[in-house]
Amino acid sequence: MKRLVLYAFVLLTGLSFSCATDYVTGKKTFSLISESQEIAIGKEADPAIQAEYGIYDDPALTAYVDSIGQSIVRVSHRPNLQYTFRIVDSPIVNAFALPGGWVYFTRGILAHFNSEAELAGVMGHEIGHVVARHGAEQMSKAQLASIGLGIGSLVSEKFNQWSGLAETGLGLIFLSYGRNQESESDRLGVEYSTKLGYDAHKMAEFFKTIGRISDQGGQRIPTFLSTHPDPGDREANVHQLTNEWQTQVNYRPKDISKASYLRRIEGIVYGDDPRQGFAENGMFYHPELRFQFPVPTNWKLQNSPAVVVMADAEQKAMIQFKLDNADSPQAAASAFVTNSGATEVARAQKSVHGLPAVALETTLTTQSGNLRILSYFISKDNKVYVFHGYSAEANFGQYAGTLTSVMSGFDVLRNQAALSKKPDRIRIAKVRAAGTFENAARQLSIPADKIEQLALLNGLVAQDQVAQGDLIKILGQ
Ligand SMILES: [Zn+2]
Repeated sequence: MKRLVLYAFVLLTGLSFSCATDYVTGKKTFSLISESQEIAIGKEADPAIQAEYGIYDDPALTAYVDSIGQSIVRVSHRPNLQYTFRIVDSPIVNAFALPGGWVYFTRGILAHFNSEAELAGVMGHEIGHVVARHGAEQMSKAQLASIGLGIGSLVSEKFNQWSGLAETGLGLIFLSYGRNQESESDRLGVEYSTKLGYDAHKMAEFFKTIGRISDQGGQRIPTFLSTHPDPGDREANVHQLTNEWQTQVNYRPKDISKASYLRRIEGIVYGDDPRQGFAENGMFYHPELRFQFPVPTNWKLQNSPAVVVMADAEQKAMIQFKLDNADSPQAAASAFVTNSGATEVARAQKSVHGLPAVALETTLTTQSGNLRILSYFISKDNKVYVFHGYSAEANFGQYAGTLTSVMSGFDVLRNQAALSKKPDRIRIAKVRAAGTFENAARQLSIPADKIEQLALLNGLVAQDQVAQGDLIKILGQ
């Protein structure tokens, strides 16, 4: 929860058939979505993505990613489209594109690349989706109507809209492309990066890392990985395509060392960034905004820049926590009642650890029955923080105590250890003696239980061989 933005997203309506160009083949095709609509979709959804993930604040690295992106655009089939490249502040290994030319890389995927060629290959793949209008195509298949409605039946659409959980923009990211579309993008990624002198075999090798991450589980399946084509198949296919394209174009390998990429990402944040909130020992801490609140036992917590969501194991009760843009707790409570269409049951002034607050109880009628909502609006540092805790009205009695204890447990964060907790960052080290990666890591005093994970970050397994003087990524602060 770093940047808290309340956003609304208006779906493009009034679709009409228009004539579009298949940029790859040059043929005219029929599409529901014109180029100007493609651009409008990307432009509308971009702020939602920024709000959901946050933007990783590193101008030099962003300029670098942009320069690789723009060089790929120039050799692509749609060189005149204007592209925007962003690094999103997420540890997940992912890259994705929106129609119209918005392309996103997570800091997680940048940390996992081991060469500029891998970045260029994946960049070519994502630009390939834009060039070939895959997102637009998917949406032409009548998916527009369903975007943004996958939030869960417990909550009404109106309530979502108000509460800032409108995931309309995010629906676009999780549009799954078909197998053919992924294959076409892999081919375009190979073509574009090969034309620029990058060795696309490196892009193929990156599928090994992807396969290992999938095996580990626990991570949301990244879009770039896509569940459709098996990473192993894609790896073999991309190797073959690379051989073909290196023969077909006048391939001249670019003179670029592995070290130069590693130096670019040295210092990048790795894994979750505790400064933007973390849960530990039953408490959620936010060092940057200096607050804390309890997390109920056995509840799941999801922290994003726009909202923290907690749900009990059966998902029968939920709590959303976020920043409100009202001037006072009273104003925020009144605006909630007006905008949500909820019926007010009770309202009381409170003091939460000395902070002025309003507690509000409401009911909300939804298609799936009545919801009972307990909300706390709390003022701290000239900001109003809001909790909405809710369940079906029939179950509310069972959860009311838990909801109240979370909200009234909100407090100023004073714990020094939590305040000064720092994220892990990628550091670069030199291998001291030839041997296995595991030995090299041991010589650098890496704890045994971290070695496999570190090998993965280096595109290796622990028993792979490394040479003396090789540069490897390690974690530091
Ligand atoms: Zn893809």
